Amino acid sequence: MTDQNEYLKDPKLIETHYGEEYEHYYNAIVPPVFLNSLNVFSSIDEYYDSDKSDKHVYCYGRVQNPTVRILEDKIAALEHGERAFVFSSGMSAATTAVMAVCHTGSHIVCVRNVYGPLKTFLTQHCTEHFQMQVTFVKGDRLEEFEEVITDDTDLVVLESPSSLLLTLQDIQGVAAIAGAHRARIYIDNTYCTPIFQNPLDLGADMVMHTLSKYIGGHSDIIGGVLVAKDKELLEKLSLMRELYGGILGPMEAWLGIRGIRTLEVRLRQHEKTALAVAQFLAQHPKVRKVHYPGLSSFPQYDLMRRQQKGSCGLMSFEIDGSVEQAKAFCQALRVFKIGVSWGGFESLVTMPLARASDEEAEWLGAAQNLIRIHCGLEGEENLIMDLEQAFAAL
Ligand SMILES: *Cc1c(COP(=O)(O)O)cnc(C)c1O
Repeated sequence: MTDQNEYLKDPKLIETHYGEEYEHYYNAIVPPVFLNSLNVFSSIDEYYDSDKSDKHVYCYGRVQNPTVRILEDKIAALEHGERAFVFSSGMSAATTAVMAVCHTGSHIVCVRNVYGPLKTFLTQHCTEHFQMQVTFVKGDRLEEFEEVITDDTDLVVLESPSSLLLTLQDIQGVAAIAGAHRARIYIDNTYCTPIFQNPLDLGADMVMHTLSKYIGGHSDIIGGVLVAKDKELLEKLSLMRELYGGILGPMEAWLGIRGIRTLEVRLRQHEKTALAVAQFLAQHPKVRKVHYPGLSSFPQYDLMRRQQKGSCGLMSFEIDGSVEQAKAFCQALRVFKIGVSWGGFESLVTMPLARASDEEAEWLGAAQNLIRIHCGLEGEENLIMDLEQAFAAL
């Protein structure tokens, strides 16, 4: 945190004012979109001496941009990190993190329920092209990590809660085990956002978010971010972003700043609505199981209370019926739209495993009729009414 921002520690103040230097933009309350690809210098020496890490010196847009930097400073402060780097997608952030830390032959430990495309990147690209070895763990028992982490492990990949079954990992516990073997911990914190969980405080090394979900919040941008504290790691991430070239564009960064302004108020509303919906589902006779960390009946509720400050609008559940019946249920919904992604203003429904093989579903520990919903901002009465009419049609 820079000195002049010292009083802006509360998340709501970070969202609204932190990292903005009004005097640089004619005192406009909203910063401009700097749509320039380069900046000019008054001498060749000044150009050579320019320091890329200084937030007041800009040279080339693939390395840094003032609008982008405001967004990064806000996320770094919210996440209790030293520095954040934003990327053109969550996957660009994730793959850059892996390549910054791992090398040919690296051993990686990863949770089974991790975001699917990252799993594909690790098991197909990293193993085939870089002979990396990936060991998957279910992730809900610390002993499991203890059994598989070795001195050759360079990276531990976590996602807590995961976006399929909402299962948690004990971040502090895993950090102690990984630290003993000098392995870095990467965690996808998209579900909680920095408002509900700060993994760097619990011992994680790199925190990733996709901006495409709650941080953007309006289903109008694709973007990602990595946050870290460690100086050596930050230097690597900075260089890898510059070389892979995945920086976020200024227009998306501006929309990200606009999204962050209301992050906390939106999240509280998503949480309140989701809890009411989860309770409705949990008592419904046609529902077999609800996966929502905010329910006191959730198997990892105690851990959730220990490491999270809340739960968001995403959950999954199994109905008492076949895959075909679950599809019919989804199609009977009117407010919930069928669509991938989540974290925006709108309610969504998908069936992530409707076409998964028996082995795949069993490996993930989930049923093929699993329904995943995101509770948007349409109001809990409207969402519950919608679910009720879809159950009635079942
Ligand atoms: C959407 C998502 C991603 C990927 O983000 P993109 O911006 O689409 O690349 C990663 N992790 C989780 C948990 C997600 O939901």
